[in-house]
Amino acid sequence: MNTRRDFIQKLGLTALSLQLKPAVIWAADLHNDEKNYDGPMLRVALMGLGSYATRVAEAMAYSKKAKVAGLISGTPSKIKTWQNRYKIPDKNCYNYDNFDAIKNNPDIDAVYIITPNGLHHNQAIRVAKAGKHVICEKPMAVNAKEGQEMVDACKQAGVQLLVGYRMHFEPKTLEVIRMRNAGEFGKVLFFQGLSGFEIGDPSQWRLNKKLSGGGSMMDIGIYSVNGARYMVGEEPVWVTAQETKNNPVKFKEGVDETIQFQFGFPGGAVASCLSTYAMNNLDKFFLNGEKGFAEMQPSTGYGPIMGHTHKGELTQPHTIHQAVQMDEMAEIIFNNKKPPIPIDGNEAVKDLKLIDAVYEAVRTGKRVEVRL
Ligand code: NDP
Repeated sequence: MNTRRDFIQKLGLTALSLQLKPAVIWAADLHNDEKNYDGPMLRVALMGLGSYATRVAEAMAYSKKAKVAGLISGTPSKIKTWQNRYKIPDKNCYNYDNFDAIKNNPDIDAVYIITPNGLHHNQAIRVAKAGKHVICEKPMAVNAKEGQEMVDACKQAGVQLLVGYRMHFEPKTLEVIRMRNAGEFGKVLFFQGLSGFEIGDPSQWRLNKKLSGGGSMMDIGIYSVNGARYMVGEEPVWVTAQETKNNPVKFKEGVDETIQFQFGFPGGAVASCLSTYAMNNLDKFFLNGEKGFAEMQPSTGYGPIMGHTHKGELTQPHTIHQAVQMDEMAEIIFNNKKPPIPIDGNEAVKDLKLIDAVYEAVRTGKRVEVRL
């Protein structure tokens, strides 16, 4: 049996372990204790060895059904360090020029794209053409057209396209959705999503339109876009939005600083959301219905997610989101498992259509009708 000390030793004094509180470690340890898995392992090549890939790779030490099996990077020194850390042979390492050759590598089942948003489209299509399953970070692309092209390319190649929607497996989130489906909130009337943080270094790719595809909406606002859909449980039919820009030097043309947006749903519910790169302490969901409510804060961070409803505190365990996500992705790829909320390319295209509509509403000042 794993002890807490074993767990910490296994993880090492990494960024991840330093951020875990003791209660969280125990919960993660429990997850790791699900024994005796002897099914296939999803062998994943990570593309883009940056900060989120680091978190994913560390979390995958706790996946039962997926492991890091390959590396794709533009930085040779990172390849060396990661090879040593994850015991990856030379034959499973690539750069951005030669990774199409992964086609001939029987050691890799899927490529997980964790590069800047603006690169996902081209990289995903190349991975699909190489015959490997595509796992892609959010936002899947920088607009719905590119997203649809990725869906089509994967379909044509006969590979799966999955997106890193880690919240779709988060226990407290799923409990709120269960309650909603059971009618415990009554008719859903209102959702509020607040997603934001104060962004630092003005030279980073997140503030470069070509690499990011936009600003806060693409990076953090997408959590409220996606959250509005899974919390309300319907697809929006109209969008309105307003932009505020206080620092046009840092947030250049096409890079949004703060956007407020509203969605209307067919059942009559409305969502009111805020996406920003200019304020901290914004990670909150509120769902209100005729008979009750749910409030979550933090609602989409790495956890622990905290929340309560009109019935009391949400007490579901904390999980390491990325470890659970990778196990579930293995189940989807190998066993065609249906996730509680979809995580496929079509789901991502819906978010991108809404983000396109938010930008259009900002540009025109008009209400934009959408059909997802
Ligand atoms: P980082 O900047 O930390 O890492 C991106 C990596 O991509 C780089 O380290 C680099 O790796 C590679 N890369 C390739 N080309 C470029 C380029 N032109 N400029 C910069 N980097 C390049 O970003 P993140 O890890 O934070 O984000 C990556 C993706 O993950 C984004 O799509 C982001 O939205 C998503 N993300 C998702 C999160 C989630 O919770 N689901 C959380 C955080 C990010 P190398 O040197 O190996 O080539």
